[in-house]
Amino acid sequence: MTTTLLHVGRALTPATEIPDAGILIRDGVIEEFGLREGMHLPPSAEEISALDKTAIPGFLDIHIHGAGGHDVMEGTEESISAVSKMVARHGTTSFVATTVTAGTEDTVRSVEGIAHYIAQQHETADVRAEVLGIHFEGPFISPVRRGVHPPECLKLPSAEVLDKFLQAAAGNARILTIAPELLGALPCIDAARKAGMVVAMGHTDATYEQARAAIAHGVRHAVHVYNAMRPFSHRDSGVIGAVLTSPEVSAELISDGVHVDETAMKMLLQAKGPEHVILISDGVSATGMPDGKYMLGKFEVTVSGGICRNAEGKLAGSTLTLDRALRNIVALGVPLASAVRMLTLNPATLLGIEFKKGALRTGADADIVLLDQGLQITNVWVRGAAME
Ligand SMILES: [Zn+2]
Repeated sequence: MTTTLLHVGRALTPATEIPDAGILIRDGVIEEFGLREGMHLPPSAEEISALDKTAIPGFLDIHIHGAGGHDVMEGTEESISAVSKMVARHGTTSFVATTVTAGTEDTVRSVEGIAHYIAQQHETADVRAEVLGIHFEGPFISPVRRGVHPPECLKLPSAEVLDKFLQAAAGNARILTIAPELLGALPCIDAARKAGMVVAMGHTDATYEQARAAIAHGVRHAVHVYNAMRPFSHRDSGVIGAVLTSPEVSAELISDGVHVDETAMKMLLQAKGPEHVILISDGVSATGMPDGKYMLGKFEVTVSGGICRNAEGKLAGSTLTLDRALRNIVALGVPLASAVRMLTLNPATLLGIEFKKGALRTGADADIVLLDQGLQITNVWVRGAAME
């Protein structure tokens, strides 16, 4: 691989802003980073000058089901690489492949496929987003707040079923979404934490007290806040009340302008602060594709005007890409650096990989996105490889 010195007008790490920055990329990592002035160009390196651009870390999507006409539940090399290539064009340089509730055997088969893909994903010269692991969305979720997850496949939390998933994932199980009010949830949360997973509350009808009990057991994240949750009321603040008032819990937000309205988005941003909000796509196979009929796991969804619904008319994930998520949040008045951290440093920190991903720093993977003045993406590097 060639050595590249990227010279940009400014870089957002995203914790700090560096004007006139130099980023030296070698062997897929950031070897040196700082003011361009203080750096010298190594003899074999080529310099790329982009003084009218802002460099930011590549986006890390912890909740995505599919894109480019494919769903990660297909579990094949072809399907997952199609997802990876499509999202990379929109600045997502790594993601956590997210399952949708299915039967245990179907889930195990899909997860084995994803794990196999992960094991050999770097044996290609193709530039595509890196799959960091698997997020299990279901089956341990509430029948009352299931959204579009098929009711016949929902299960009470079970350490035994979880163990089957862990085996199939072969070390790649990263996130478990669970409804903490279900019978058996707390021991299942304990088992997932012991296996090194991040545990999230989601698709839940939990009361405030039930949510706080889950947090006491190590739940540190909440999935697509507001959506598929017991609604907030001033005398029954519920899981949303617990999320908004617990700084140890990070909150996912789908900022497509359809899932959550502007005021509710602002409320979440103000209550949680820029360090504790994580923007996700919840993207389905239709992302990056024209309106029409698509599959989410095993069921059909219809996309019209970019909005994805199931046969009952319920919202079924989104067709949001993270570059659009960024622009939507900035349009709410959030400073660019704060918006960027919600797509980069915050999800990396939740996964405990902030020294490798989600930040521009020496030693981190060279996952880099360049933005123009209108916050459109002009260039993407994944682990040092430039996207054409
Ligand atoms: Zn969901």
